[in-house]
Amino acid sequence: ASMPSSNFIQNIIDEDARTNKHQGRVHTRFPPEPNGYLHIGHAKSICLNFGIAAQNGGLCNLRFDDTNPSKEDVEYVDSIQEDVRWLGFDWQDRMFYASDYFGRLYEYAVLLIRKGKAYVCDLSAQEIRDYRGTLTQPGQESPYRNRSVAENLDLFERMRQGEFPDGSRVLRAKIDMASPNLNMRDPVLYRILRSHHHRTGNQWCIYPMYDYAHPLSDAIEKVTHSICTLEFEDHRPLYDWVLAAVEHEYRPQQIEFARLNLNYTVMSKRKLRELVEQKYVNGWDDPRMPTISGLRRRGYTPEAIRDFCDRIGVAKSNSIVDIALLEHCIREDLNARAMRAMAVLRPLKVVIDNYPEGVTEELAAENNPEKPEMGNRTIPFSRELFIEQEDFCENPPKKFFRLAPGQEVRLKHAYIIKCERVVKDGAGNVVAVHCTYDPDTKSGGAASGKKVKGTLHWVSAAHAVKAEARLYDNLFNVENPDEGEDYKTNLNPNSLDVLQCFVEPGLAAAEPGTRYQFLRQGYFCVDTVDSRPGQLVFNRIVSLRDSWAK
Ligand code: ATP
Ligand code: MG
Ligand code: MG
Repeated sequence: ASMPSSNFIQNIIDEDARTNKHQGRVHTRFPPEPNGYLHIGHAKSICLNFGIAAQNGGLCNLRFDDTNPSKEDVEYVDSIQEDVRWLGFDWQDRMFYASDYFGRLYEYAVLLIRKGKAYVCDLSAQEIRDYRGTLTQPGQESPYRNRSVAENLDLFERMRQGEFPDGSRVLRAKIDMASPNLNMRDPVLYRILRSHHHRTGNQWCIYPMYDYAHPLSDAIEKVTHSICTLEFEDHRPLYDWVLAAVEHEYRPQQIEFARLNLNYTVMSKRKLRELVEQKYVNGWDDPRMPTISGLRRRGYTPEAIRDFCDRIGVAKSNSIVDIALLEHCIREDLNARAMRAMAVLRPLKVVIDNYPEGVTEELAAENNPEKPEMGNRTIPFSRELFIEQEDFCENPPKKFFRLAPGQEVRLKHAYIIKCERVVKDGAGNVVAVHCTYDPDTKSGGAASGKKVKGTLHWVSAAHAVKAEARLYDNLFNVENPDEGEDYKTNLNPNSLDVLQCFVEPGLAAAEPGTRYQFLRQGYFCVDTVDSRPGQLVFNRIVSLRDSWAK
């Protein structure tokens, strides 16, 4: 995993090294809140934080930012670790929880009160909002702002002891109600909330706010560069204020970068959770989800995701990345390494009338033309085959180089066949195509040089293995699903198409997670959840058509 060295964050780090700002150290962290599964946007942050550390001989922590117990769960803690590891990153012995610091954060709050920099406020949440003012109007000071240190210490202690109901009081920083930055108008540092925490249980009934807990957690871990997304730019003065106010020995610096947005995708955990909970998808790892677990189950490789994160780079202004780039990355990766196989997704019977009955020929097929060292396999050929329905046309348009009455095509790795006649059912549908083959045209044989315009994939009917193919399309049918009233109205009703297909018999024992290129169809992965021996399930990772404009 590598990051391009020429991003603006690396420039900052180079400059810091020159001025010895952090005594030459580089220490980053990836700080997910365990309130959902990680998505491809998080992958960008993971690659960036771990990549910057690796590139500069530094360290990167995994820190669970678990200060909001009502939405958090160990299920998410576990999935986050699995996903970061799967992406190829290692936090070694540096996995931390903000909740481990609750005791110290409390002590720092007491210190702020002692220094006259924090006070207990009895205004309601609505009143606090009303008093805050607007961008054009200064705020109004809380009537509780000038409580004595002694009274604040007493009230804060009693908040902790559980004497007051949820929401009745908060601890606020005493900064400046006239600040042009709304975040500096006496922000809330602690709230009362009786909520079971997945690690600290019912030990606490007051919880620190993000803007207070985050800078202190960074400083406690001796982080040097605290990389976050752009929406926190306006919070940076508060980040710095907290560290200065407690006179912390370590002063990490916050650096903001543009979050990843992808077209045809939503990327907020709240929305992804809603899709899962309201069963628009089959779980967080549904292969249509932009989650790491969804991409993994779909068949994406960590290499392709890291390559994608490298290519999108790191910038200071928001933009929307074309999902075609992500697809391009997985195609490139799998083109180089995936085994080729033949699978017929929508079967049409072909009978080769001049091929002997009861005979099976084993034909040689290369496993990957990009990598001869991957060797060959054999595939059975016999009198009755399946081809794709769309590869036959009874009344073909011009330039239809596939099978049509009187027309010849090559069957990949096999022979040239010619269509002689069709068989139809009562409704006039073609149910079988009768052909003859030319025994002299065997692929690789002496007379294989005969040219025809089309080459089709196929499977032998008697030998093929029945399987389920799941074809995925974008989960949303508009580029920006967030535009408009409710993103859910933009869900694509045809995002999943389930087909009964036939695959070559060598795939009968395919292991879950194995990826193949099905010739002319796309890249497929054996589903890790639903596939069983005898009941194989293949997820289409991506089709072969690359729409990425380089
Ligand atoms: P969401 O808004 O989806 O809930 P979040 O930012 O609240 O995301 P966190 O768990 O707090 O989710 O994120 C952990 C880290 O990942 C943060 O540093 C955050 O900046 C980063 N991150 C989250 N989403 C993206 C994204 N789309 N692109 C880049 N980084 C992201
Ligand atoms: Mg967050
Ligand atoms: Mg969030």
